[in-house]
Amino acid sequence: MATHAAKRERMVAQVEAMYAETAAETGLSAMSSAVRAALGKVERHRLVPAQEVSLAYGNYPLSIGAGQTISQPYIVALSTDLIGPHAGQVVLEVGTGSGYQAAILAEIVARVYSIEVVPELGRGAAEGLAGLGYTNVEVRVGDGYAGWSEKAPFDAIVVTAAAPNVPSALIDQLKPGGRMVIPVGERWGAQDLLLVSKHADGRLERKSVLPVRFVPLVHGA
Ligand code: SAH
Repeated sequence: MATHAAKRERMVAQVEAMYAETAAETGLSAMSSAVRAALGKVERHRLVPAQEVSLAYGNYPLSIGAGQTISQPYIVALSTDLIGPHAGQVVLEVGTGSGYQAAILAEIVARVYSIEVVPELGRGAAEGLAGLGYTNVEVRVGDGYAGWSEKAPFDAIVVTAAAPNVPSALIDQLKPGGRMVIPVGERWGAQDLLLVSKHADGRLERKSVLPVRFVPLVHGA
């Protein structure tokens, strides 16, 4: 049986290969060294449900309960690279899920705020992240459509559930010069991973990066 570390290395190699295959579409020919290091380090098997541990390092989506699915590691890596993360930044994630994307971000940036609408997922992710030793991630249960105004503005925002359009509160909470990655499109249908850049003068630029399929961003109760 391969160790978790060996499986993780294989996963990193698979993600790297997918970057090469999709370079023409994404404009990113290789994973950044920061994202590669984070992917090689974060113990994904400690964030997924017990019955998924043996599948934790497959480069495919996984079920995490509450009817929710987490993205394949390639999409997590790509979303992270698209925001151009670096030390010192404060990043908002919408859709904490398992906490894996938050952990990848927390390896690179200064502080991560993450919002999850399903209470048991939010609590589970907060516990999992604390168990892995992350002290720079704060998880809140709530509706991510509204963002997290008390902690705004953010250098970057990563949305990990699909919305029909880019929520205006999230645009407001993005710093000038900031970037947001968000899947936009139909519920369970055709969606595009969008990179939204907010220029210094407030002007927005949208680039469609890749066709994707994410679970929907729901409106909280
Ligand atoms: N980023 C996660 C995967 C997220 S799956 C990870 O790395 O594991 C999408 C998540 O978004 C689900 O957990 C879902 O419950 C959550 N979600 C859906 N609508 C939301 C909303 N309005 N606000 C916050 N979270 C939401």
